[in-house]
Amino acid sequence: MSYQVDHDGYYGQFGGAYIPEILHQCVQELQDNYLQIINNPAFQQEFRMLLRDYAGRPSPLYRAKRLSQKYGAKIYLKREDLNHTGAHKINNAIGQALIAKRMGKKRIIAETGAGQHGVATATVCALMDMPCVVYMGKTDVERQRVNVERMKMLGADVVPVTSGNMTLKDATNEAIRDWCCHPADTFYVIGSTVGPHPYPDMVARLQSVISEEIRWQLREHEGRDYPDVLMACVGGGSNAAGTIYHYIDDDRVRIVLAEAGGLGVDTDKSAATIHLGKLGIIHGSKTLVMQDEDGQIQEPYSISAGLDYPGIGPMHANLARTGRATVMPITDDEAINAAFELTRLEGIIPALESAHALGALPYMKFKPDDVVVLTVSGRGDKDLSTYLQYKSNK
Ligand SMILES: *Cc1c(COP(=O)(O)O)cnc(C)c1O
Repeated sequence: MSYQVDHDGYYGQFGGAYIPEILHQCVQELQDNYLQIINNPAFQQEFRMLLRDYAGRPSPLYRAKRLSQKYGAKIYLKREDLNHTGAHKINNAIGQALIAKRMGKKRIIAETGAGQHGVATATVCALMDMPCVVYMGKTDVERQRVNVERMKMLGADVVPVTSGNMTLKDATNEAIRDWCCHPADTFYVIGSTVGPHPYPDMVARLQSVISEEIRWQLREHEGRDYPDVLMACVGGGSNAAGTIYHYIDDDRVRIVLAEAGGLGVDTDKSAATIHLGKLGIIHGSKTLVMQDEDGQIQEPYSISAGLDYPGIGPMHANLARTGRATVMPITDDEAINAAFELTRLEGIIPALESAHALGALPYMKFKPDDVVVLTVSGRGDKDLSTYLQYKSNK
Protein backbone atom coordinates (compact mmCIF):
# COMPACT_ATOMS: atom_id res chain seq x y z
CA MET A 1 0.00 0.00 0.00
CA SER A 2 1.25 3.49 -0.87
CA TYR A 3 0.36 6.87 0.54
CA GLN A 4 0.83 8.41 -2.91
CA VAL A 5 -2.10 9.09 -5.21
CA ASP A 6 -3.74 6.09 -6.95
CA HIS A 7 -4.75 5.73 -10.62
CA ASP A 8 -8.13 7.34 -10.04
CA GLY A 9 -6.75 10.38 -8.24
CA TYR A 10 -7.49 9.25 -4.69
CA TYR A 11 -5.50 9.07 -1.49
CA GLY A 12 -7.47 6.40 0.36
CA GLN A 13 -10.99 7.77 0.48
CA PHE A 14 -9.87 11.37 -0.19
CA GLY A 15 -9.32 13.24 -3.46
CA GLY A 16 -10.93 12.69 -6.85
CA ALA A 17 -12.31 15.39 -9.14
CA TYR A 18 -15.76 16.72 -8.18
CA ILE A 19 -16.25 19.42 -10.77
CA PRO A 20 -19.04 20.97 -12.83
CA GLU A 21 -19.60 19.31 -16.20
CA ILE A 22 -18.33 22.39 -18.03
CA LEU A 23 -14.84 21.93 -16.51
CA HIS A 24 -14.66 18.24 -17.34
CA GLN A 25 -12.69 18.75 -20.53
CA CYS A 26 -10.12 21.14 -18.94
CA VAL A 27 -9.45 18.84 -16.03
CA GLN A 28 -9.35 15.76 -18.28
CA GLU A 29 -6.84 17.48 -20.57
CA LEU A 30 -4.62 18.21 -17.58
CA GLN A 31 -4.99 14.65 -16.24
CA ASP A 32 -4.01 13.28 -19.64
CA ASN A 33 -0.91 15.48 -19.99
CA TYR A 34 0.65 16.42 -16.66
CA LEU A 35 2.75 13.32 -16.01
CA GLN A 36 4.09 13.14 -19.52
CA ILE A 37 5.05 16.84 -19.37
CA ILE A 38 6.64 16.66 -15.91
CA ASN A 39 8.64 13.56 -16.84
CA ASN A 40 9.83 15.03 -20.13
CA PRO A 41 13.63 15.71 -19.98
CA ALA A 42 13.30 19.10 -21.74
CA PHE A 43 10.71 20.21 -19.15
CA GLN A 44 12.91 18.99 -16.31
CA GLN A 45 15.91 20.82 -17.72
CA GLU A 46 14.06 24.13 -17.97
CA PHE A 47 12.35 23.68 -14.58
CA ARG A 48 15.65 22.82 -12.84
CA MET A 49 17.45 25.72 -14.49
CA LEU A 50 14.83 28.21 -13.27
CA LEU A 51 14.73 26.69 -9.77
CA ARG A 52 18.52 27.10 -9.56
CA ASP A 53 19.23 30.39 -11.34
CA TYR A 54 15.96 32.24 -10.74
CA ALA A 55 14.51 30.92 -7.47
CA GLY A 56 17.93 30.35 -5.86
CA ARG A 57 17.83 26.60 -5.20
CA PRO A 58 19.01 24.40 -3.64
CA SER A 59 17.78 25.98 -0.42
CA PRO A 60 20.23 25.35 2.44
CA LEU A 61 19.72 22.61 5.02
CA TYR A 62 20.97 24.37 8.14
CA ARG A 63 21.95 22.61 11.37
CA ALA A 64 20.39 24.85 14.01
CA LYS A 65 22.78 24.43 16.95
CA ARG A 66 21.07 26.46 19.64
CA LEU A 67 17.58 25.23 18.71
CA SER A 68 18.96 21.66 18.79
CA GLN A 69 20.40 22.23 22.25
CA LYS A 70 17.11 23.57 23.51
CA TYR A 71 15.01 20.63 22.26
CA GLY A 72 17.55 17.81 22.69
CA ALA A 73 17.87 16.51 19.11
CA LYS A 74 19.79 17.29 15.92
CA ILE A 75 17.47 19.80 14.32
CA TYR A 76 18.00 20.89 10.74
CA LEU A 77 16.03 23.71 9.14
CA LYS A 78 15.13 23.45 5.45
CA ARG A 79 15.38 27.09 4.40
CA GLU A 80 12.52 27.65 1.93
CA ASP A 81 12.43 31.22 3.30
CA LEU A 82 15.51 31.96 1.21
CA ASN A 83 13.76 31.39 -2.13
CA HIS A 84 12.99 34.30 -4.46
CA THR A 85 9.71 35.91 -3.26
CA GLY A 86 10.34 34.50 0.21
CA ALA A 87 8.65 31.10 0.33
CA HIS A 88 8.26 27.67 -1.25
CA LYS A 89 5.33 28.82 -3.42
CA ILE A 90 7.63 29.92 -6.26
CA ASN A 91 8.60 26.26 -6.95
CA ASN A 92 5.00 25.43 -7.80
CA ALA A 93 4.31 28.64 -9.73
CA ILE A 94 7.34 28.11 -11.99
CA GLY A 95 6.36 24.49 -12.59
CA GLN A 96 2.72 25.15 -13.43
CA ALA A 97 3.55 28.07 -15.74
CA LEU A 98 5.92 25.81 -17.67
CA ILE A 99 3.21 23.13 -17.89
CA ALA A 100 0.72 25.76 -19.11
CA LYS A 101 3.10 26.80 -21.88
CA ARG A 102 3.62 23.23 -23.00
CA MET A 103 -0.15 22.74 -23.13
CA GLY A 104 -0.40 25.79 -25.42
CA LYS A 105 -2.24 27.96 -22.86
CA LYS A 106 -1.74 31.70 -23.29
CA ARG A 107 -3.40 33.16 -20.20
CA ILE A 108 -2.88 32.44 -16.49
CA ILE A 109 -5.43 32.81 -13.71
CA ALA A 110 -4.96 32.22 -9.99
CA GLU A 111 -6.74 32.64 -6.67
CA THR A 112 -5.04 34.09 -3.63
CA GLY A 113 -5.87 34.62 0.04
CA ALA A 114 -3.05 36.49 1.75
CA GLY A 115 -1.55 37.26 -1.64
CA GLN A 116 1.54 35.05 -1.40
CA HIS A 117 0.45 32.67 -4.16
CA GLY A 118 -0.78 35.64 -6.21
CA VAL A 119 2.65 37.28 -5.93
CA ALA A 120 4.46 34.05 -6.87
CA THR A 121 2.20 33.57 -9.89
CA ALA A 122 2.43 37.22 -10.99
CA THR A 123 6.22 36.98 -10.67
CA VAL A 124 6.44 33.96 -12.95
CA CYS A 125 3.99 35.51 -15.44
CA ALA A 126 6.21 38.61 -15.67
CA LEU A 127 9.19 36.34 -16.23
CA MET A 128 7.43 34.36 -18.96
CA ASP A 129 5.52 37.28 -20.48
CA MET A 130 2.07 35.78 -19.91
CA PRO A 131 -1.08 37.77 -19.00
CA CYS A 132 -2.13 37.06 -15.41
CA VAL A 133 -5.45 37.58 -13.61
CA VAL A 134 -5.50 37.07 -9.84
CA TYR A 135 -8.81 36.70 -7.99
CA MET A 136 -8.74 37.93 -4.42
CA GLY A 137 -11.53 38.48 -1.91
CA LYS A 138 -12.22 42.17 -1.34
CA THR A 139 -11.62 41.74 2.40
CA ASP A 140 -8.19 40.30 1.64
CA VAL A 141 -7.43 43.05 -0.89
CA GLU A 142 -7.95 45.55 1.92
CA ARG A 143 -5.94 43.57 4.50
CA GLN A 144 -3.02 42.77 2.20
CA ARG A 145 -2.26 46.07 0.51
CA VAL A 146 1.44 45.48 -0.03
CA ASN A 147 0.95 42.17 -1.84
CA VAL A 148 -1.74 43.76 -4.02
CA GLU A 149 0.70 46.54 -4.97
CA ARG A 150 3.37 43.94 -5.70
CA MET A 151 1.08 41.99 -8.03
CA LYS A 152 0.11 45.19 -9.84
CA MET A 153 3.73 46.26 -10.22
CA LEU A 154 4.44 42.81 -11.68
CA GLY A 155 1.75 43.45 -14.28
CA ALA A 156 -1.04 41.24 -12.95
CA ASP A 157 -4.69 42.21 -13.03
CA VAL A 158 -6.01 41.87 -9.46
CA VAL A 159 -9.78 41.33 -9.37
CA PRO A 160 -11.46 42.00 -5.98
CA VAL A 161 -14.23 39.44 -5.33
CA THR A 162 -17.29 40.71 -3.49
CA SER A 163 -19.34 37.52 -3.06
CA GLY A 164 -19.70 35.59 0.23
CA ASN A 165 -17.26 36.58 2.97
CA MET A 166 -15.01 38.11 0.31
CA THR A 167 -12.07 35.85 1.23
CA LEU A 168 -10.14 32.91 -0.25
CA LYS A 169 -13.08 30.53 -0.73
CA ASP A 170 -14.94 33.18 -2.73
CA ALA A 171 -11.84 34.07 -4.78
CA THR A 172 -11.47 30.38 -5.66
CA ASN A 173 -15.09 30.16 -6.83
CA GLU A 174 -14.51 33.18 -9.06
CA ALA A 175 -11.32 31.70 -10.53
CA ILE A 176 -13.22 28.48 -11.33
CA ARG A 177 -15.96 30.53 -12.98
CA ASP A 178 -13.35 32.28 -15.16
CA TRP A 179 -11.83 28.91 -16.11
CA CYS A 180 -15.25 27.63 -17.15
CA CYS A 181 -15.62 30.65 -19.48
CA HIS A 182 -12.16 30.35 -21.06
CA PRO A 183 -11.35 26.64 -21.17
CA ALA A 184 -9.39 26.74 -24.42
CA ASP A 185 -6.71 29.36 -23.72
CA THR A 186 -6.55 29.63 -19.92
CA PHE A 187 -4.53 27.70 -17.32
CA TYR A 188 -5.59 27.82 -13.68
CA VAL A 189 -2.53 27.85 -11.40
CA ILE A 190 -3.64 26.50 -8.00
CA GLY A 191 -1.42 27.45 -5.07
CA SER A 192 -1.43 24.32 -2.91
CA THR A 193 -2.03 20.55 -2.90
CA VAL A 194 -5.78 21.13 -3.18
CA GLY A 195 -8.37 21.18 -5.96
CA PRO A 196 -9.54 18.41 -8.28
CA HIS A 197 -7.18 15.61 -9.36
CA PRO A 198 -4.52 16.02 -10.76
CA TYR A 199 -3.74 19.28 -8.91
CA PRO A 200 -2.80 17.77 -5.52
CA ASP A 201 -0.44 15.26 -7.14
CA MET A 202 0.91 17.78 -9.66
CA VAL A 203 1.70 20.36 -6.95
CA ALA A 204 3.24 17.67 -4.71
CA ARG A 205 5.52 16.56 -7.57
CA LEU A 206 6.59 20.15 -8.31
CA GLN A 207 7.35 20.76 -4.63
CA SER A 208 9.10 17.39 -4.22
CA VAL A 209 12.36 19.13 -5.10
CA ILE A 210 12.40 19.95 -1.36
CA SER A 211 12.67 16.33 -0.17
CA GLU A 212 14.93 15.44 -3.10
CA GLU A 213 17.40 18.03 -1.79
CA ILE A 214 16.92 16.91 1.83
CA ARG A 215 18.08 13.42 0.77
CA TRP A 216 21.48 14.45 -0.58
CA GLN A 217 21.94 17.25 1.95
CA LEU A 218 21.39 14.81 4.85
CA ARG A 219 23.80 12.35 3.25
CA GLU A 220 26.44 15.12 3.30
CA HIS A 221 25.71 16.14 6.89
CA GLU A 222 24.85 12.83 8.52
CA GLY A 223 26.09 10.09 6.21
CA ARG A 224 22.56 8.77 5.74
CA ASP A 225 19.86 10.05 3.46
CA TYR A 226 16.81 9.97 5.73
CA PRO A 227 15.81 11.77 8.94
CA ASP A 228 14.03 10.29 11.94
CA VAL A 229 11.43 13.04 12.00
CA LEU A 230 10.09 15.47 9.39
CA MET A 231 8.11 18.52 10.51
CA ALA A 232 6.15 21.11 8.52
CA CYS A 233 3.12 23.36 8.78
CA VAL A 234 -0.04 22.63 6.78
CA GLY A 235 -2.44 25.09 5.21
CA GLY A 236 -3.46 23.33 2.01
CA GLY A 237 -0.40 21.13 2.33
CA SER A 238 2.13 22.01 -0.37
CA ASN A 239 5.26 22.77 1.67
CA ALA A 240 4.55 19.69 3.79
CA ALA A 241 3.97 17.55 0.67
CA GLY A 242 7.30 18.75 -0.76
CA THR A 243 9.07 18.02 2.53
CA ILE A 244 7.77 14.45 2.87
CA TYR A 245 7.40 13.43 -0.79
CA HIS A 246 10.33 11.01 -1.09
CA TYR A 247 9.81 9.64 2.44
CA ILE A 248 6.08 9.18 2.45
CA ASP A 249 6.26 5.37 2.17
CA ASP A 250 9.46 5.07 4.27
CA ASP A 251 8.35 3.94 7.74
CA ARG A 252 11.72 4.81 9.28
CA VAL A 253 10.63 8.45 9.01
CA ARG A 254 8.04 9.96 11.36
CA ILE A 255 5.88 12.74 9.90
CA VAL A 256 4.66 15.54 12.17
CA LEU A 257 2.40 18.25 10.76
CA ALA A 258 1.24 21.46 12.44
CA GLU A 259 -2.11 22.98 11.58
CA ALA A 260 -3.48 26.33 12.71
CA GLY A 261 -5.24 26.01 16.05
CA GLY A 262 -6.17 29.72 16.10
CA LEU A 263 -7.44 30.61 19.58
CA GLY A 264 -7.82 26.86 20.32
CA VAL A 265 -9.65 23.87 18.80
CA ASP A 266 -12.37 24.11 21.46
CA THR A 267 -13.20 27.71 20.50
CA ASP A 268 -15.03 28.69 17.31
CA LYS A 269 -11.94 30.58 16.18
CA SER A 270 -9.72 27.94 14.60
CA ALA A 271 -8.50 26.62 11.26
CA ALA A 272 -7.56 23.13 12.52
CA THR A 273 -9.27 21.22 9.70
CA ILE A 274 -7.85 17.81 10.59
CA HIS A 275 -9.13 18.08 14.15
CA LEU A 276 -12.46 19.72 13.36
CA GLY A 277 -13.24 18.76 9.77
CA LYS A 278 -15.69 16.20 8.45
CA LEU A 279 -15.78 14.45 5.08
CA GLY A 280 -17.06 16.82 2.44
CA ILE A 281 -16.24 18.40 -0.89
CA ILE A 282 -14.35 21.66 -1.32
CA HIS A 283 -12.75 23.10 -4.46
CA GLY A 284 -13.40 19.93 -6.44
CA SER A 285 -11.89 17.49 -3.99
CA LYS A 286 -13.36 15.08 -1.44
CA THR A 287 -11.52 15.81 1.80
CA LEU A 288 -11.92 17.01 5.37
CA VAL A 289 -13.83 20.27 5.51
CA MET A 290 -14.79 22.57 8.38
CA GLN A 291 -18.55 22.65 8.00
CA ASP A 292 -21.70 22.99 10.07
CA GLU A 293 -24.51 20.42 10.45
CA ASP A 294 -26.03 21.51 7.12
CA GLY A 295 -22.75 21.14 5.25
CA GLN A 296 -22.20 24.91 5.05
CA ILE A 297 -18.49 25.71 5.01
CA GLN A 298 -17.43 27.43 8.21
CA GLU A 299 -15.24 30.50 8.12
CA PRO A 300 -11.85 29.47 9.51
CA TYR A 301 -9.72 31.66 11.75
CA SER A 302 -5.96 31.83 12.21
CA ILE A 303 -3.57 34.69 12.90
CA SER A 304 -1.66 33.36 9.91
CA ALA A 305 -3.33 34.20 6.60
CA GLY A 306 -1.57 31.34 4.77
CA LEU A 307 -3.10 28.68 7.06
CA ASP A 308 -6.56 30.23 7.21
CA TYR A 309 -8.27 27.66 4.96
CA PRO A 310 -11.38 25.55 5.75
CA GLY A 311 -10.12 22.48 3.85
CA ILE A 312 -6.92 20.44 3.64
CA GLY A 313 -5.28 18.62 0.76
CA PRO A 314 -6.50 15.02 0.28
CA MET A 315 -2.97 13.62 0.71
CA HIS A 316 -2.77 15.05 4.23
CA ALA A 317 -6.33 14.08 5.16
CA ASN A 318 -5.36 10.50 4.33
CA LEU A 319 -2.01 10.66 6.17
CA ALA A 320 -3.83 11.93 9.25
CA ARG A 321 -6.77 9.50 9.18
CA THR A 322 -4.54 6.45 8.59
CA GLY A 323 -2.17 7.49 11.37
CA ARG A 324 0.83 7.86 9.03
CA ALA A 325 1.23 11.48 10.15
CA THR A 326 0.77 13.04 13.57
CA VAL A 327 -1.08 16.33 13.26
CA MET A 328 -0.92 18.94 16.01
CA PRO A 329 -3.04 22.06 16.29
CA ILE A 330 -0.78 24.96 17.27
CA THR A 331 -2.41 28.12 18.61
CA ASP A 332 -1.69 31.71 17.59
CA ASP A 333 0.14 32.29 20.89
CA GLU A 334 2.29 29.18 20.53
CA ALA A 335 3.24 30.13 16.97
CA ILE A 336 4.16 33.71 17.93
CA ASN A 337 6.29 32.55 20.84
CA ALA A 338 8.03 30.05 18.58
CA ALA A 339 8.73 32.79 16.02
CA PHE A 340 10.40 34.97 18.67
CA GLU A 341 12.33 31.98 19.96
CA LEU A 342 13.76 31.11 16.53
CA THR A 343 14.59 34.75 15.90
CA ARG A 344 16.57 35.03 19.14
CA LEU A 345 18.22 31.59 19.01
CA GLU A 346 19.19 31.48 15.34
CA GLY A 347 18.72 34.96 13.85
CA ILE A 348 15.99 33.78 11.50
CA ILE A 349 12.60 35.54 11.46
CA PRO A 350 10.18 32.89 10.15
CA ALA A 351 6.82 33.40 8.43
CA LEU A 352 3.86 33.05 10.79
CA GLU A 353 2.85 29.89 8.91
CA SER A 354 6.28 28.31 9.45
CA ALA A 355 6.17 29.37 13.11
CA HIS A 356 3.35 26.84 13.59
CA ALA A 357 5.74 24.00 12.71
CA LEU A 358 8.26 25.44 15.21
CA GLY A 359 5.45 25.69 17.76
CA ALA A 360 5.12 21.90 17.69
CA LEU A 361 8.70 21.41 18.97
CA PRO A 362 7.81 21.78 22.70
CA TYR A 363 5.35 18.85 22.33
CA MET A 364 7.93 16.49 20.82
CA LYS A 365 9.74 13.76 22.74
CA PHE A 366 13.10 13.38 21.00
CA LYS A 367 16.03 11.05 21.62
CA PRO A 368 19.36 12.95 21.62
CA ASP A 369 20.51 11.28 18.38
CA ASP A 370 17.28 11.93 16.51
CA VAL A 371 17.80 13.70 13.19
CA VAL A 372 14.94 16.16 12.70
CA VAL A 373 14.28 18.20 9.57
CA LEU A 374 11.83 21.09 9.98
CA THR A 375 10.83 23.14 6.95
CA VAL A 376 10.83 26.91 7.35
CA SER A 377 8.33 27.49 4.55
CA GLY A 378 8.78 31.27 4.34
CA ARG A 379 10.38 34.39 5.75
CA GLY A 380 8.69 36.64 8.28
CA ASP A 381 9.12 40.08 6.71
CA LYS A 382 5.45 40.12 5.69
CA ASP A 383 4.44 39.37 9.30
CA LEU A 384 6.52 41.99 11.13
CA SER A 385 3.60 44.24 12.02
CA THR A 386 1.70 41.25 13.48
CA TYR A 387 4.74 40.25 15.52
CA LEU A 388 5.35 43.76 16.84
CA GLN A 389 1.68 44.41 17.55
CA TYR A 390 1.48 41.19 19.53
CA LYS A 391 4.61 42.07 21.48
CA SER A 392 3.22 45.49 22.45
CA ASN A 393 -0.08 43.94 23.59
CA LYS A 394 1.63 41.56 26.03
C1 LIG B 1 1.02 29.70 1.68
C2 LIG B 1 2.00 29.39 2.73
C3 LIG B 1 1.86 28.26 3.56
C4 LIG B 1 0.69 27.34 3.50
O1 LIG B 1 0.52 26.65 2.30
P1 LIG B 1 0.87 25.12 2.12
O2 LIG B 1 0.32 24.80 0.78
O3 LIG B 1 0.22 24.35 3.22
O4 LIG B 1 2.35 25.00 2.18
C5 LIG B 1 2.86 28.00 4.48
N1 LIG B 1 3.92 28.82 4.62
C6 LIG B 1 4.07 29.93 3.88
C7 LIG B 1 5.28 30.79 4.09
C8 LIG B 1 3.12 30.25 2.90
O5 LIG B 1 3.30 31.37 2.17
